[in-house]
Amino acid sequence: MLQLHLAIWLGGFLLAGTSAAEQKDNPMKFGMVIHGGAGTIERREMTPENEAAHRAGLEQSLKAGYDILQRGGSSLDAVEAAIRVLEDNPLFNAGKGAVFTHEGTNELDASIMDGKTLNAGAVADLQHIRNPISLARLVMEKSPHVMLVGAGAEAFARKMGMQFVDQKYFYTDERWQSLQKEKAKSSPVPVSDKDRHGTVGAVALDKAGNLAAGTSTGGTTNKQFGRVGDSPIIGAGTYANNRTCAVSCTGDGEYFIRSVVAYDISAMMEYKGMPVQAAAQAALDKALKLGGTGGLIAIDKEGHFAMPFNTSGMYRGKVGPDGKVTVEIYK
Ligand code: ASP
Repeated sequence: MLQLHLAIWLGGFLLAGTSAAEQKDNPMKFGMVIHGGAGTIERREMTPENEAAHRAGLEQSLKAGYDILQRGGSSLDAVEAAIRVLEDNPLFNAGKGAVFTHEGTNELDASIMDGKTLNAGAVADLQHIRNPISLARLVMEKSPHVMLVGAGAEAFARKMGMQFVDQKYFYTDERWQSLQKEKAKSSPVPVSDKDRHGTVGAVALDKAGNLAAGTSTGGTTNKQFGRVGDSPIIGAGTYANNRTCAVSCTGDGEYFIRSVVAYDISAMMEYKGMPVQAAAQAALDKALKLGGTGGLIAIDKEGHFAMPFNTSGMYRGKVGPDGKVTVEIYK
């Protein structure tokens, strides 16, 4: 019991200026929470310009989602729109600005889930799709499948008339330098989370009471052999269910897959009746016990939300019915 209280308190403490107690009485009637990745994000290493640019990117994403929710649009549309903004922003590790593989290519993963129908779509190992989240949505809505990968996914994208880009489109100097640093290290050990953060995700509750979640990433710097993380795995990196919550994760994908983090939160809420903040913290703690660091965002069907992380920072933000956008980076 003490543990549960501590978890609730911690969950509340980590929210962007809204305590769990405050939320209990006044949940968001509709709203959206986003992340731009968790990792070693130190205030002292950020220039004011860099910090302002990240904040502006998160705000722009939240506004895109809010515009849709505010005029009665669906949580799915809001999640897709918010993620597209971050995919187009070179500062985040998704779409343009994705990290590089060992071979110096970019391989993108994304997924989206509809809490109302439990329909889901996912894509992995894309090399020429500007907005992977939109292809994930097309997989969900226009194919009989849940997950398409590599050349097959791109063939489907062509059939759907999606926008293709050259690999050069994804290039940013910062990500290229991160790859060189990683390669200079003697063993192909997992990258430090400093060079990893930037995965993006969004969860939303719309005016009709429907939940949706989505996640998009370039994966991890220096990844090899067609490695795929948790982001496109439904139940691991992304999950949404109107009965419980919508979740998007960021962190050490291998551990988030093994801990089935996103579904674990939903299961704790469904089977144990736990509040979203406590379930989110407990699931993250379980992943950490295995050795996985990172964070996540979650929102429940009443508009309570959580954004816990166990790294030094996580780009994150929220917007509720009043349209006020709140963005945070550090602990
Ligand atoms: N979870 C992502 C992956 O493992 C990376 C991240 O969120 O930083 O591909």
